[in-house]
Amino acid sequence: MLTAFNAAHGLDRFPINVGLVAQEYSKSVFPDEPITLVEGKNFTGSFEGALVRNPIKPKEWGIFYNSGLSSKGRINFTLAHELGHYLLHRALVINEISCSKTDMRAWDSEYGKMESEANEFASFLLMPLDDFRAQTKSWKVFRIRDFAALGTRYESSTTATILKWLEITTKRAMVVVSKDGFIDWSWSSKPLLKSGVYFRAKQETIPIPDKSLAAKGPSEISIDGEWLPEGVWADQEEVFETALFSDFHNQTISLLIYPNTPPGYQR
Ligand SMILES: [Zn+2]
Repeated sequence: MLTAFNAAHGLDRFPINVGLVAQEYSKSVFPDEPITLVEGKNFTGSFEGALVRNPIKPKEWGIFYNSGLSSKGRINFTLAHELGHYLLHRALVINEISCSKTDMRAWDSEYGKMESEANEFASFLLMPLDDFRAQTKSWKVFRIRDFAALGTRYESSTTATILKWLEITTKRAMVVVSKDGFIDWSWSSKPLLKSGVYFRAKQETIPIPDKSLAAKGPSEISIDGEWLPEGVWADQEEVFETALFSDFHNQTISLLIYPNTPPGYQR
């Protein structure tokens, strides 16, 4: 659908212009209930986006993103998430769905089925798997800066790009988002999870390790990455970390790559 759409509008395959796709696609496929407004909105509070029924013409819809968002990738991901709600959930919506920052990273279906569905939709819309695999296939080292560059290709957020990779990789890897020295949330790849490595940051207060790059602050090493010895991120394993320090909500993102073989398997 998108390939045809982009050809018809003379657009490049990437990045996906979600605002345009939302309006044109809904108008042609659901002409009785189109999306007629895509706009930034000054949300007070913590909302990042919303799908809203037109109060005057209730069959029409608007999708909004937080106009305080400065990154194009975050805006585009938010719009894609709201388009997901429109396509999947609009029949269930009375007036509007408002989505928080937490909703935007809910990949865990236990958190909320509708939110994780909207995120999955956004992820596949912005970063189709065939292209995503082709882009990352030859990578030998996994650093945040390369995911940030991929985020620019797809106009998706760096975090969403890393989460996409964690979904499909055979590596033992994890993203850790921290704030004020404590883990806010983390996500492990399936192979890492299988070897029993994860943080329960929702249940416990977990400080980031003193000797981690995340704790040391921005430097060239945090960009290039470093193998940190046993006892920093893991008791029995070295871990390769790169870290990104974001002004946005003072977040620090660490990408952790663990050895392919968990320690219990070593002979
Ligand atoms: Zn949502």
